[in-house]
Amino acid sequence: MLKLILPLLLCVLLSSCGSELHYLTDETAPPADSGYSYTHSDDCPVSGGAVTSQPWYLQYADGYLYIQGISGTGIPSSDNTFLNYTLKRINPKTGSVTDVCPDPLCGHNTEECPFYGLDSLPVGFADGKVFYRRRWITGVDGEAGTVDFYSADVVYDTASGKLTELVNLNGEGGGIVSELYADTHRYWYVWQWDKENPETGAYFLTRAAYNTLKTEFLAEISFAEARFVGYADDTLYFTDGRVLYSTDERFENRRDITEASLRYDSYFFGGDSVYYIDENDCVFRILLSTGEITDLGIRAGTLAVTENYLYYTSPEEVVLGRARIYGYSADEVRVTGEHIYRCARDGSESERIFTFDGPLSATRLIGFEAVGNYIWSTYIRWDDPDGDGIFTDGAQYESGRDGKIIRIDVMTGETLELTLN
Ligand SMILES: [Zn+2]
Repeated sequence: MLKLILPLLLCVLLSSCGSELHYLTDETAPPADSGYSYTHSDDCPVSGGAVTSQPWYLQYADGYLYIQGISGTGIPSSDNTFLNYTLKRINPKTGSVTDVCPDPLCGHNTEECPFYGLDSLPVGFADGKVFYRRRWITGVDGEAGTVDFYSADVVYDTASGKLTELVNLNGEGGGIVSELYADTHRYWYVWQWDKENPETGAYFLTRAAYNTLKTEFLAEISFAEARFVGYADDTLYFTDGRVLYSTDERFENRRDITEASLRYDSYFFGGDSVYYIDENDCVFRILLSTGEITDLGIRAGTLAVTENYLYYTSPEEVVLGRARIYGYSADEVRVTGEHIYRCARDGSESERIFTFDGPLSATRLIGFEAVGNYIWSTYIRWDDPDGDGIFTDGAQYESGRDGKIIRIDVMTGETLELTLN
């Protein structure tokens, strides 16, 4: 019993001093023999970029890494529905992993848990609050063959422990595609049915104030026309795929910055700049102040922007072996991302920092975060247990489903695998 009381007492004591997030205090360092080591660097991901993610991606915010993990006592499910998920937090300095849900006794599998029904990442963090979408099945009509859902965009206040519904989605809405966190507001898209004509509806660019949680629909516009790029200095940045433009915080006073073909998932906010990868895998930088575009002379599969560096993966395909997999569209398994590089923010001083070889030759990062001296990611691994060079059904292993992540030490090339559950 003492073990439970002590962390609770610490929470109460620590949450009384200012705006400390009380859920950030309930962790213990891993045991000294865990083998966890850490060297510090102040470098971290650039803030203000659009928060875009997928299941099993890691997200960096406020000095921590977040991931949608399997809940401790999740409802058994053969199809990995969202009811099994809960939000986990990793402290990169100590390697400790905790649930964001503050109740140490919670199984995260009833509606009373604030993170029950966590639909999918991205999840947003601002002003001591966590923003996300919840959804779960409320009933099944066997005769009509329909399923009813509860779904809502919510915010959980880590200081007060209060859960607030921002928008009830009336059962609609899958995962959030992308969202933006400005100094005072969260921006995202909400689908609303037309009250006059229930067959039709529209997407609205929506914002909620951190302090009052007041929610406003700013504009009826589709995500394709106003994809979030980033936020800096009271200015929102968007792209429609062809033009990079800015607006004020009410989505007014549009200013076109430059024409640039920004494909989905291929542009990255840099605070004073936007980086993008074109269809030939070449990396360009757009300066937001002038619109000037520079070819950085590097090629990348994907990249991550930190305060000091660009981290990027090699775009070239490598053949791992033959594929004999039901439903797989190719005869060979081809993957990119064999090498990881780092360069300065202007593309200079590029150096290779890691190569997937030896026992890791068939392992690749899924979506990574570069924090200080480390790269963090879930991964895909291609298994060929009998070593005949032929990959069969079940060969593709996704580590996130088991709560496994990999950490790469940028300075030494050492790797470490952590299991979250
Ligand atoms: Zn819980």
